[in-house]
Amino acid sequence: MTDANIKGGPVTEVDMEESGIDVQHQMLVESLMFLYRSMPSSALGHVFAGVFVVYALWEVMAPNTLIIWLAVLAVVASFRLMATLWVEKRLHDASVEQIEQWAFFLLFCALLQTVTWGASVFLIWPEDFAHRAFLVVVLAGIIAAGGLILALHRRSFAIYCLPIAIPAVIQLLISGTRLELILAVLLVFYSGIMFVSVNRLTNVFQEGLRIRLLIQTESRTDALTTLANRRGFDESLHDLWQQAIRTNQSMGLLIIDVDHFKLYNDYYGHPKGDIALKKVGELLSHIASRSTDLCARIGGEEFAVLMPATDLEGSRQVAETIQTELGKARIPHRESDRGFLTVSIGLNVTTPDRQSSADLFMMETDQALYEAKESGRNKISLARSITNSSSRPSEASGET
Ligand code: GH3
Ligand code: MG
Ligand code: MG
Repeated sequence: MTDANIKGGPVTEVDMEESGIDVQHQMLVESLMFLYRSMPSSALGHVFAGVFVVYALWEVMAPNTLIIWLAVLAVVASFRLMATLWVEKRLHDASVEQIEQWAFFLLFCALLQTVTWGASVFLIWPEDFAHRAFLVVVLAGIIAAGGLILALHRRSFAIYCLPIAIPAVIQLLISGTRLELILAVLLVFYSGIMFVSVNRLTNVFQEGLRIRLLIQTESRTDALTTLANRRGFDESLHDLWQQAIRTNQSMGLLIIDVDHFKLYNDYYGHPKGDIALKKVGELLSHIASRSTDLCARIGGEEFAVLMPATDLEGSRQVAETIQTELGKARIPHRESDRGFLTVSIGLNVTTPDRQSSADLFMMETDQALYEAKESGRNKISLARSITNSSSRPSEASGET
């Protein structure tokens, strides 16, 4: 981290949104991951509870109805489990809209599950109070367990609880003995208390998650330029590298260093130096403006631009535009030969595979930057891995 990284105040939600991080989206992903982790035991739990209900009512209900109901319950539980596994596999590369649709779909699957449980009070409602009470206790347990698993989705508890509680209460009221009326009232109270508790749990969870995301964002953001900092860059490079392996796409990388910046600071002072760095940062994010491009300040006066799904020509174009636009900006630098602020750029492009390494990719690009500096600054140099694999001369471009 540079000193500038620790200068800024606390990052707010507005900052997160400005830097492209959507809190709601992140929270949805987190809650889906929680659902995914709980789903195998949840599916198993539903089937176990169903088997116990069938076993307990075997003597007092028609076996065929019991078996059909259990089969439907097991099919719905398995479908829900498979749907959750399917969603988890695709969560990494999904858009916000897709994730929202999937969350909706998984809630719908949960609804199917509770409707199956709710239907049990009409399909397999025993004659005697003891067995009825047993079924109601199991239903209350399902509400509690499922409600807690879905607690991270706001409003989902109602979706989960009502399809079970409403039929059970109606059946108890219809049955009409004094004990059953009391059981109905207790079930209403119980559901209400669960509703309030789960809501509180949701609030606590979401607040904790929001704070964690804010802190995470702050630790990955450069306070001076609001670009990603070194840590944010390294993490994104790792993720995008894995994604490029999966999609077999090339990616371009520029490492950009401001020329003679120590002299700039010495002449104009550190505060003016900060303003110049901010301008360079703005220029980079303006030029590398695809939603997938990542601009970062990875050192004091050193920046990086990572461009997924971009080939050599595309990357070179971005590098040249950076130099052209900075030339047009004409930020005065009296201590430099050119009289204006310039940058040197190391350029590298690769199509990552399982054998290649992101660290080596960075090192090659750093080396290219070093060569750009050595050859007189204000230059773009290609990494050796590119020049070796084609017949291009090692120096790719001249001054802009
Ligand atoms: P070269 O052309 O070889 O890159 O020379 P240079 O002077 O740019 O490189 P050097 O590494 O010698 O100096 C980098 C300077 O960047 C030194 C440091 O004062 C300045 N710097 C680093 N971080 C910041 C910052 O956050 N704000 C300001 N104003 N200056 C910074
Ligand atoms: Mg420099
Ligand atoms: Mg430097």
